[in-house]
Amino acid sequence: MTDVHIHIEKGPYTKEWIDQFVQQAIRMGMDEIYLLEHSHRFAEFAPMYTSICEYSEYQKNWYKKKATLSIKDFQTLITEMRTITFPIKIKWGLEVCYFPEYEKLIGDILRSFPFDFSVGSIHWVDGFGFDHKAEFWNNIDTEHIYSNYYQLMLRLVKSGLFSGVAHPDSIKCFHHYPTQDFTDIYRLLADELKAHHMYAEQSGGLALNYGFEELGMNQTMLHIFKSKNVEIRCASDAHKPEDAGANIAKLQAILQV
Ligand SMILES: [Zn+2]
Ligand SMILES: [Zn+2]
Repeated sequence: MTDVHIHIEKGPYTKEWIDQFVQQAIRMGMDEIYLLEHSHRFAEFAPMYTSICEYSEYQKNWYKKKATLSIKDFQTLITEMRTITFPIKIKWGLEVCYFPEYEKLIGDILRSFPFDFSVGSIHWVDGFGFDHKAEFWNNIDTEHIYSNYYQLMLRLVKSGLFSGVAHPDSIKCFHHYPTQDFTDIYRLLADELKAHHMYAEQSGGLALNYGFEELGMNQTMLHIFKSKNVEIRCASDAHKPEDAGANIAKLQAILQV
């Protein structure tokens, strides 16, 4: 089994830290893991987050705490770790916040180093970080944000920048649902994912990190992606070693139904 989405962000860039993820992944029955970092951690991506910081004082403080490294630090770690033989296969990559106006910057950074993979994510819609706190949704127009979220995701896929799309329905994180039917958009997304040879994550991130009851993507989306033969890969969205491989067996089982 493979877990395609594990963050290493809460520890030092050392072999001992990476070993902790590997050991837990083995305990969970994994034979391959994808280790990654968020784009927001690296100074090189800072221009993308200008509008995010301007949106609110909360987001500005959040970003300041996160952006503490250079992408060079991560690249050095990857280069070092690639010289070591681990008991399971490791792929190294980035989870990049997608902003259409920064495609060139994203492309330049992704091409500047031989990453094994990259996933594009929508974490921000019109500057709003929708997955931070439930109360921030108080004045949000659900219909509007859903439709912008999926328009952005379509552009993300069409950009051709990434190997996969992360957590493709994470907009549901705080249980706000639109009345509109998104079936057509899901179909379009599926077609574009296929056309761009991209995978979609079947992510357990909301279950793991938000206590969300539904594991993986919603049934309608899953049904459409499967019927259109979109490649689907299972992802824990772990943010600490003890969560590596979490829910992967269950996510895999859902795909088999
Ligand atoms: Zn994410
Ligand atoms: Zn993630």
